[in-house]
Amino acid sequence: MTPLAVDVLVIGLGPAGGAAAAAAAKRGLRVAAIEKRKAVGVPVQCAEFIPLPLARHAQAQGVPAQRITGMRSVLPSGAASATPFQGLMVDRAAFDLALARQAAEAGAMLHVDTRLEALRAGDSTAVVRGADGAFAIRYRIVIAADGPHSTAARLLGLPALGIVNTRQYTVRLLHPGAATDIWLSDRYPGGYAWLFPKGEHANLGVGMDPGCASDMKTPLDALHGRLAREGRLGREILARTGGAIPVGGLRERLAVRNVVFAGDAAGLTHPITGAGIAAAVISGERAGEAAYALLGTGNPKALDEYDEDMRDQFEETLARGLARRRELERAWRERGAGTDAVQRRGWIAFEEYYRGTVPA
Ligand SMILES: Cc1cc2nc3c(=O)[nH]c(=O)nc-3n(C[C@H](O)[C@H](O)[C@H](O)COP(=O)(O)OP(=O)(O)OC[C@H]3O[C@@H](n4cnc5c(N)ncnc54)[C@H](O)[C@@H]3O)c2cc1C
Repeated sequence: MTPLAVDVLVIGLGPAGGAAAAAAAKRGLRVAAIEKRKAVGVPVQCAEFIPLPLARHAQAQGVPAQRITGMRSVLPSGAASATPFQGLMVDRAAFDLALARQAAEAGAMLHVDTRLEALRAGDSTAVVRGADGAFAIRYRIVIAADGPHSTAARLLGLPALGIVNTRQYTVRLLHPGAATDIWLSDRYPGGYAWLFPKGEHANLGVGMDPGCASDMKTPLDALHGRLAREGRLGREILARTGGAIPVGGLRERLAVRNVVFAGDAAGLTHPITGAGIAAAVISGERAGEAAYALLGTGNPKALDEYDEDMRDQFEETLARGLARRRELERAWRERGAGTDAVQRRGWIAFEEYYRGTVPA
C-alpha cells in the first residue's frame, strides 16, 4: 500500500500537538496528526489552570471555567502567605479539543486511536497503528508533541526525562473562591499539594518525586479528609486522575535531524510548579511555524532557530526552577525539607525563590 505522504507529521494532540498542527496547516503545509487516545483531551490529566496571557487560546465555548486571582501558600509551620496570582481555570478536555478543531479546520488530517510505533529515519517514514492495523506515513518533518514519556524520543534513542508523579481528585468545593491553595511540606517529597477551585468543584492533588516516595494516596487522602472535616470540601471523590510531569528541564537538543520536540516532550514544563500548558502551546505553535520556514520558505536554519528561540524564551525560568529543585532534593534527602526557610526558597510565591543568580 502506498504510504500517506505529508509535509508534517505531528505526534500527539495535547496542547503542543494541536497548536503545532494548526500553525503548520494554516500556512498551507500538508499535515497529519496522530493521537493514541480514542478522543482528544480525554481523560483529563490536569489541574486545569492556565496563566492569563494564554486566555486568548481559551475562548471557545465550554473552555473558560473561572478566573483565579490569588494564591495562598501554606508553609510547614502552618504559616500562610497570600499573593496575587492571575489566571484562568479551563475545561482542559475542551481546551485541547478546541486546538485540535482549529487544526482540522485549517486542513490537518487528524487520526485518533492511532499511535506511533516506529520511526525509520532513513526514508523519513513513521509506522503508526490505528484501529484497523498498522500503516506508514512518509513525512518531511515530525513534530514530537507526545508528552512526558515521548515515544519519538525513545525511538530516536534519546534519554527519558526526569519526572514527578501526581495523583488528583475532583471534589465538591463547598465555598467557591478565586484563590488556589498550595501546601509545601515534607509530606509531599519532591513536590507539593494543590487545590484549584473550579466553580463548585475543585481539583485537589499532590505531586511527588517517585525516587523519594511512591505512596501518594495516603497524603492525598489525609489532606482531603482534613479539608472535608473543616467544611471546605465534599467527601465524595467525583473523579480521579494523575500522570507524569517532566521536571528535568529542556532536552539537550530540541531538533534532532528532522524531528522537532515541543511541549512536555521537549522538557518545557516548569521544574517546580509542573505548569506546562502555556509552554506547550507556545512551543507547538512555534514548531509549526518553523516547519513552514524550512519547507515553505526554504530557510535551512529554521529548526535550529526554533531550538534557539525556545531557549531564549524559557531557559532562564527553567534554569532557576531546576536550581531550586536541586536544593529541595538535597533537603528532602537530608530530611531538612520540613522548615519554612527551605520551602520559601523553593516556591515561586516567595521572594527568596528569585534571589541570587542561577548557575548556567
Ligand atoms: C495531574 C496534572 C496536573 C497538571 N496541572 C497543570 C496545570 O494546572 N497547569 C499547567 O500549565 N500544567 C499542568 N500540568 C502539566 C500539563 O498538563 C502539561 O504540561 C501539558 O499537558 C503538556 O502538553 P503536551 O501537549 O506537551 O503534552 P500532553 O498533554 O501530554 O499531550 C501528549 C499527547 O500525546 C499523546 N501520545 C503519547 N504517546 C503517543 C504515541 N506514541 N502516539 C500517538 N500519540 C501519543 C498522548 O495521548 C497525549 O494526548 C499538569 C500535569 C498533570 C499530570
